[in-house]
Amino acid sequence: MITAKGISRQAPLWRQALASAIRDPAELLRELNLDPKLLSAAQTAATSFPLRAPRGFVARMHSGDPNDPLLQQVLPLAAELEPALGFTVDPLDEQATQAAPGVLHKYPGRALLIVTGACAVHCRYCFRREFPYAENQASKNAWRPALTYLAGDSSLREVILSGGDPLALSDQRLSELLTALDRIPHLERVRIHSRMPVVLPERVDDGLLTTLARTRLQRVVVIHANHPHEIDETVGAALQQLSASGATLLNQTVLLRGINDDPETLTALSEILFTARVLPYYLHLLDPVRGAAHFAVKENAALAIMEGLRQRLPGYLVPRLVREQPGRLAKTPVESL
Ligand SMILES: *Cc1c(COP(=O)(O)O)cnc(C)c1O
Ligand code: SF4
Repeated sequence: MITAKGISRQAPLWRQALASAIRDPAELLRELNLDPKLLSAAQTAATSFPLRAPRGFVARMHSGDPNDPLLQQVLPLAAELEPALGFTVDPLDEQATQAAPGVLHKYPGRALLIVTGACAVHCRYCFRREFPYAENQASKNAWRPALTYLAGDSSLREVILSGGDPLALSDQRLSELLTALDRIPHLERVRIHSRMPVVLPERVDDGLLTTLARTRLQRVVVIHANHPHEIDETVGAALQQLSASGATLLNQTVLLRGINDDPETLTALSEILFTARVLPYYLHLLDPVRGAAHFAVKENAALAIMEGLRQRLPGYLVPRLVREQPGRLAKTPVESL
């Protein structure tokens, strides 16, 4: 990278890992020795929401297995193109909850700031797969109105950085944002919702740890892992470092048909996350976003899975089963039929 002063500087390693993610369905199939017959559907489905999978994440998939639980999260399929009743482009009506550009303020005491539309991975079930980020993010020159809004509401205790993936921001930009939040006296906590520690653990480097250590705010990092195979040694080490830096680590999971919809898989996930100092937070019922209906798990099946988790795990390793409903004051617990 050439800076303005003409000094050549190496881009951080995570930037290189991000840039070299697999985006071509043909390459993904070749890499995993999969049937080329899958290609044409993958190419078609990728036109509305492109494929994106970091190489380190792909390396955790099993070669030759089209049903690999990590592959299923990223491989575009023909099923995405089938219309399904009740599955829409903006299922949470987020367009309607914008308090200021890039600010979603739905719940008391905490507001969510969309700081970027970029993600290191494209998850096929994502509820924001068709969200018009360009219009809704608090972008480089437009953080000011969002910060003014946050500063003006003294009932806020916590700001949630979200996206996209907020750790797609450079350390410099993240640092500027944290500094601005630091100066808002009523804020006590900053929460970062990021899938990067799992899908691109290179992101957890000295630059990030230093940046996070500088804020006066308490830090919570909510990662997103759906299957125990996502947590290999490298990811485990990255999580341990984040934890050692003073952040509280929580995980959210989306309940996905054919990927993690059984108590054994989710038990193994909670166990392996805890070894990396992460506690389970939410288990989300799928948001009904267009193109993701084939991932849906029925509510009664989800409740049976929860019962299975309670039998197998100590209470602190059991996530809360929730769904999001437009207009509610918090995520809605799913507790009985
Ligand atoms: C999920 C979410 C939050 C955070 O909710 P918690 O229950 O505190 O995790 C805040 N704002 C919005 C808009 C959300 O979607
Ligand atoms: S990382 Fe999160 S925001 Fe990005 S595609 Fe996956 S689920 Fe969606």
